[in-house]
This record gives sequence, C-alpha cells and structure tokens, in this order.
Amino acid sequence: MQIVLIGAPGSGKGTQGDLLSAHYGIPRLSTGDALRQAARLHTAIGYEAKAAMDAGELVEDRIVIRMIEDRLAMDDAGSGFILDGFPSNVRQAQILDAALARQGRAGIDAALHFEVPDDELVRRTLARGVAQGRSDDSEATVSHRLSVYHSQAATLFKYYADQNKLLTRSGTGSVGEVFDEAVDALDRFVTTPLPI
Ligand code: AMP
Repeated sequence: MQIVLIGAPGSGKGTQGDLLSAHYGIPRLSTGDALRQAARLHTAIGYEAKAAMDAGELVEDRIVIRMIEDRLAMDDAGSGFILDGFPSNVRQAQILDAALARQGRAGIDAALHFEVPDDELVRRTLARGVAQGRSDDSEATVSHRLSVYHSQAATLFKYYADQNKLLTRSGTGSVGEVFDEAVDALDRFVTTPLPI
C-alpha cells in the first residue's frame, strides 16, 4: 500500500501516520521529522532547511525531493509506505509519481486528507509547541504555516481528485475514531477503487 497523507499542520498526520504504519506494517516517512533530525545533527541539509522551517515557510523543493527519493529507494519502503508531509504541492506530487515510475513501481494508491477547521488546528499546534518544544509551533509561525498550507492545498486536492485518488475524512474525532475511519476508507478504496 502506497499512501500519502495530506492535511494542515496539526491535522493529525503524524499521529495517524504512526498508527497506520503499525497497522499495515509499512514505514511512515515524514519529511518534517527528517528535516528536524538533519537540523539537530547540523548536516548541510539541516542547516539549509532550518531557517525556512523556523519561519514557517516550505523548504526548497530540491532539498525535500532528494531526501524523499533516497528514502523511497530504501529496502523497508519496498512493499509500501505512508508519506507524511510530502507532497506539499503539485510539483512535488508530479515528481513523486515520476520517481515511483523510475523505480519501476506502481503509483500511489490513495491520498488521504484529514480535514480540521483552522481554529482547532491553531489550538492543537500551540498545545504541541508547549508539550514538545517545537519552535515552529509558536503563535508567530502557526498562522503563517496555515496560510502557506492553504495556498497549496486546493491544487494538490485537485491533482489527486482528478485521478480519483483523494479520500477526505474528518480529522476532528478522537484519535481512535479518526484511525478507524481512515482504515475503513483505505481498505475499501485500495482493495475496491470505486469513488466513495
Ligand atoms: P511538518 O513536520 O510536516 O509540520 O513539517 C515541518 C516543516 O518542515 C514545514 O513547515 C516545512 O518547513 C518543512 N517541510 C516538511 N515537508 C515539506 C515539504 N514536502 N516541502 C517543503 N517543506 C517541507
């Protein structure tokens, strides 16, 4: 199963991605986690990415694309993956499709979108900033990250909707409810890909 998770900052992609990863036995690949780790380790990529992340901007395509292409080629992603945070725009989505084709693989099965209202997203990300000390979950940065997300999201939804791969589900229930809905949607869609 090859899935991409789409949703605003705070929509639950990380939490649900981890649960889906354990459920389906395929890795969750998070560009945000990989970039934060690179920044912690002071690698060249981390150094380049940190300023954009702290400002709530997207990191340059060329950096995240190289990272994700390398990661997809690793053995553990061979039988499937859950992408969290990539693609964040249509250009990245097209490059993902091309990378999979180049590796002789099928395209992604579904793009799962967790829909959460903005006021709830702000509440969640600020709470996470306090709990986890994430510097980009600050009041100053969160609203900018949301507007960056919204500026890219509509065209990304259209890209996957046009291929009949977009599954939109509410991300506002409990963690367990959202997870059950996600598994139900994926199981029905990926095994029987009819519009639902
Ligand atoms: P996340 O952990 O998904 O909230 O991502 C944290 C930050 O990493 C984002 O605000 C961006 O600066 C950067 N980032 C993550 N994924 C991408 C991506 N696909 N393209 C560009 N920047 C990204």
